[in-house]
Amino acid sequence: MSTPTPAGYATGRTLRPSAKSLPEHSRSHNRALVLQTLYRAGGVSRADLARATGLTRVTISDLIAQLIAEDLVVELGQREDARPGKPATLLDINRTGFQILGLDLSDHAELRGGVLDLDGAILEHRVVPLQNAVGQAAVDKVLALAADLIAAATAPILGIGVGSPGVVDLGGTVLSAPNLGWADLPLQRLLADATGLPVLVANDANAAVLAEHSFGGALSDTMLVTIGHGVGAGLLLGGTPLFGSRFAAGEIGHVVVGTDGGEPCACGKVGCLETWLAIPRLEAKLAGAPDAAARREILREAGERLGIALAPVVGALDLAEVVLSGPADLLDGPLTEAALETLRTRTMAEFHGDLAVRMTALGQDIVMRGAAAMVLSGQLGVS
Ligand SMILES: [Zn+2]
Repeated sequence: MSTPTPAGYATGRTLRPSAKSLPEHSRSHNRALVLQTLYRAGGVSRADLARATGLTRVTISDLIAQLIAEDLVVELGQREDARPGKPATLLDINRTGFQILGLDLSDHAELRGGVLDLDGAILEHRVVPLQNAVGQAAVDKVLALAADLIAAATAPILGIGVGSPGVVDLGGTVLSAPNLGWADLPLQRLLADATGLPVLVANDANAAVLAEHSFGGALSDTMLVTIGHGVGAGLLLGGTPLFGSRFAAGEIGHVVVGTDGGEPCACGKVGCLETWLAIPRLEAKLAGAPDAAARREILREAGERLGIALAPVVGALDLAEVVLSGPADLLDGPLTEAALETLRTRTMAEFHGDLAVRMTALGQDIVMRGAAAMVLSGQLGVS
């Protein structure tokens, strides 16, 4: 458990697998299967586990003995049972035996961090003002936040998950995060070297979509759109995160929406999705609105542009839902309604008629909880 690996981000099954199956592969697969079953069910017996996983009683007993020795599984006591014979001993993941650190670097003004339990609940919360720090100064603030959280943890730490803005490769190197002045920054290695803990770094929207899947009830084919200072998205297809050829899947903020112009964007183009939807732009437009009807129209137009941008994505990928993350006072209401209406009118009703567009219920902690979900997935194989 000591080697940082991006196992949580293994990209599904390849179409042409070439490696031979080795015994250790099935061992780690069976181990993850048992942990996953315990994580979701809890309070089950060895016999229940054998039934649920299809593994033999002997295999289950061996795996459980090993997991108890690692302190990852605990015996809860015996089942109250009217049946004759020896009552079954109930097992669970050791939910209080480990904690996870989650870091959210996505906000333009502050770095956020938390100590989380294995169920994704936040036990300790820390906020560090960014004060426009960039480059190494921003790295130093991240390292200090991690050290602060390590000191605040009250149980052994399973690992550190980090949601970073920008484009992040599968090894946790931030290829580009202009707002933090980072390029080719090996953040995962730097944090692992500094803390001696397993670390997983991913793009903030990719972390957020994992949180929605693990803790927010997202379906397996979901796009989570983060709307804040910029606009990004995380994609889950068949329950597997999608990263794309250059780790930039979901980078929809600088896609031009429509052919009818729009406002100039910082990237040099005109009418990018961000110019319609980014929160500072929306707030500026709303501040100039004379009345409630005008405000509503501004929000509806932003939602319509989002729908126009997403319709081909929904059609191409056959998504079941689009989840929005950002300030609910702006996004929930006319904007979400207009986005859904636009998606409905622009896609095929027989396939996409029951598509849902909704706000996340995870609020502003979504990236931090997604970072914890990455650690759970990477270290234990559970989600
Ligand atoms: Zn742009």
